[in-house]
Amino acid sequence: METDGIMSGEEKSYSSMSLKDVWKVYQSFGRTVVALKGINFEVPKGKLTCLVGPSGSGKTVIINMMAGYETPDGGQVLMDGKPVGGPGPERIVVYQETALLPWKTLMENTTFGPLMQKKISKKEAIKRAQALIDKSGLTGFEKKFPYQLSGGMQRRSELIRALINDPKVLLMDEPLRGLDAMTRQIMQDYVIKLYEETKTTMLFITSDIDEAIYLADTVYFLTQSPGFIKDKMEITLPRPRTSDVLITKEYNEFLAKAIDIVMAEKEFI
Ligand code: ADP
Ligand code: MG
Repeated sequence: METDGIMSGEEKSYSSMSLKDVWKVYQSFGRTVVALKGINFEVPKGKLTCLVGPSGSGKTVIINMMAGYETPDGGQVLMDGKPVGGPGPERIVVYQETALLPWKTLMENTTFGPLMQKKISKKEAIKRAQALIDKSGLTGFEKKFPYQLSGGMQRRSELIRALINDPKVLLMDEPLRGLDAMTRQIMQDYVIKLYEETKTTMLFITSDIDEAIYLADTVYFLTQSPGFIKDKMEITLPRPRTSDVLITKEYNEFLAKAIDIVMAEKEFI
């Protein structure tokens, strides 16, 4: 364990989140679109929870409500048992789309958030950023601009940029989507490592069942639109988790069960 205060899980306190019978309805061109109908799930403190659902099932709507950018039309979004009133620095979202500022270097992008918020000194910000950069295999790239980084490096930079703010909950909306298979595998291992070293409460949203089982402590399954949680699986695969697990009988049993859950609604796809 490091003692830099960011990557160490020991001295930090994290939060839990939960959704209780959450509904979301949109008015679109005079029509009423039910995006979510009564969503219930938990993101327990210090656990990595995955939410799997097909495109259009309401995954981004859910994460935007948890971040506080949108409000539910029914039910409650809770953090440590209290309703989320709006955005807050303790809940950080990493989206699939890059949010790196193209005209700033990796170091400048990483320190940008804390310096804007004037939470810590520039010296402290640089020290924390360097620790995260080193941990993430990006040493030597501090002065590079985003376009000079590979796809995988850019995604790691996004995660570093989120973690430097010391979130109590890290919300990730399909952060690995669009990466080639090899980079994606490496990035999955990186997310697992970040989680296992920090034990930050994490919600990881994906449309990929394999990815969800590989990463998660618990997987929730969303139906086709309108989104509804139809099932849940506790993934009891051991940690630390490495890619060796992907060829085990246990992993493949989880996968087979998950495919059954998803295929049960194939007639609607
Ligand atoms: P996912 O992230 O799972 O692909 P989304 O959360 O983006 O799905 O969207 C879920 C549903 O909600 C879709 O049918 C989408 O069209 C609808 N929706 C999302 N945002 C809005 C909005 N601002 N206005 C109207 N409909 C919306
Ligand atoms: Mg989405």
